Amino acid sequence: MDVYLATPRGFCAGVDLAVDIVDLAIQRYGTPVYVKHQIVHNPKVVADVEAEGAITVESVEDVPEGAVVVFSAHGSPPSDYEKAKLRNLTVLDATCPLVTRVHNEAKKYSKDGKKIILIGHVDHQEVIGTTGQAEMVLVDERQDWTLPEWEEDVEVAVLTQTTLSVYDTAIAIGNIRKSHPDAIVRDDICYATTNRQAAATELADMTDLVLVIGAQNSSNCNRLKDVAIKKGVPAYLINGPEELDRSWLESVEKIGITSGASTPETQVKAVIEAVAPQNIFRVGPGEIKTTFAIPRDLRSLVGSGQRSSSKEESILDEDN
Ligand code: SF4
Repeated sequence: MDVYLATPRGFCAGVDLAVDIVDLAIQRYGTPVYVKHQIVHNPKVVADVEAEGAITVESVEDVPEGAVVVFSAHGSPPSDYEKAKLRNLTVLDATCPLVTRVHNEAKKYSKDGKKIILIGHVDHQEVIGTTGQAEMVLVDERQDWTLPEWEEDVEVAVLTQTTLSVYDTAIAIGNIRKSHPDAIVRDDICYATTNRQAAATELADMTDLVLVIGAQNSSNCNRLKDVAIKKGVPAYLINGPEELDRSWLESVEKIGITSGASTPETQVKAVIEAVAPQNIFRVGPGEIKTTFAIPRDLRSLVGSGQRSSSKEESILDEDN
């Protein structure tokens, strides 16, 4: 049995940045540092930052008055910053810059008087943050949806959640364009999502089974699984080897393995060790390593502290 390993896979620049901000906050302020919502959607990453002294909470109201809180990578609505101010919290914003860009687009188009459509998944944390920025209509492409009956000359701007399926989003955009052919459509699906889906597509073309390593609540992991299933290949999303069902491997010669943007490489390595392949082949377009700088208003955090994201360099190959 051989393993075909997607490149790229695993941590993106936004996840590196968010984890680093928690680390730096702990170095600067000591423990505990609160984190509003899981810092990224992966239980191992959450457990690791909690082992260092972070406490994950689900809402600003759960943070004690005057404490230090990191807002997660998914982005937060303005109401959360207002609540934090009232509670005298020190807020460190770990929102991925590519999510902040979508927030800024929403505010700009709203100011310009355009109607905004957001393609995104109901109740996903990123969507909660983005829909809080301005008035907009949410289109969840997994469900039946209709748009309001706007005036014919209304100007429309279409934004997207950053971690959607490239394929499904293109279909939703095509449907929106039927009634709004001149709509401005932003390309908001992020580089990490796009590149990992491209690699997963190649993987599915040449394997009998695809294992996506990551968390069930990770949007981009679920979309990687969808990519393989759409290609007609059985695919499973598992956190690690403990969730691997050996019956999936019966009669399988070629296993594709990939992981989402919030999955530590150690989990991928553990699954590969459990599968014990004869050979490992790399598949996919690769990716130039991207790093997001610490936001200007948080640079004082860096001080003598060191960013730790280099810890998550690939441990299986050198080209990822
Ligand atoms: S998946 Fe994309 S949008 Fe989300 S944190 Fe990573 S780079 Fe940012």
